[in-house]
Amino acid sequence: MAILQYAAKYNHTDLVDEAAPLTIEYEFLEVKNQFEKGSRIPYIWLEYREQWASIIKWIYTVNPPISTQHKGGLSECNLWKPFYWKVLEDLKMCPSRVKRARQFIEMDITRKLEDCSHCIRRAQKWIIAAEAKIEAIQPLSNFL
Ligand SMILES: [Zn+2]
Repeated sequence: MAILQYAAKYNHTDLVDEAAPLTIEYEFLEVKNQFEKGSRIPYIWLEYREQWASIIKWIYTVNPPISTQHKGGLSECNLWKPFYWKVLEDLKMCPSRVKRARQFIEMDITRKLEDCSHCIRRAQKWIIAAEAKIEAIQPLSNFL
């Protein structure tokens, strides 16, 4: 946060963009209190952080797309739900964990889905979709 403060004050945009992802766990008032009264930066930071909030909302509310049907035309088997809930539990609605979604999902594939290739494919598509959203996040300097 101190680096973000300094970088924003002196307009070092590279440094702003390097520091910003490390501040996404802060609460708005904590950020606001770090800056001078009337500073625009906390509000710009909030706009930046909102991107993470919307990815988290997507992960927790949108069911991962189904890739291939299981035998008998079923969209999922009994392995999927325990896997899915384990991933959500591991991500803890936390941006710094969501940033590493691949790592958590792959770990839970190994623990929970090993026996179903259909569910593994679905989980892998989920990783790709999540990573595409994370990569589309605009750096904080774009909002300055
Ligand atoms: Zn399955």
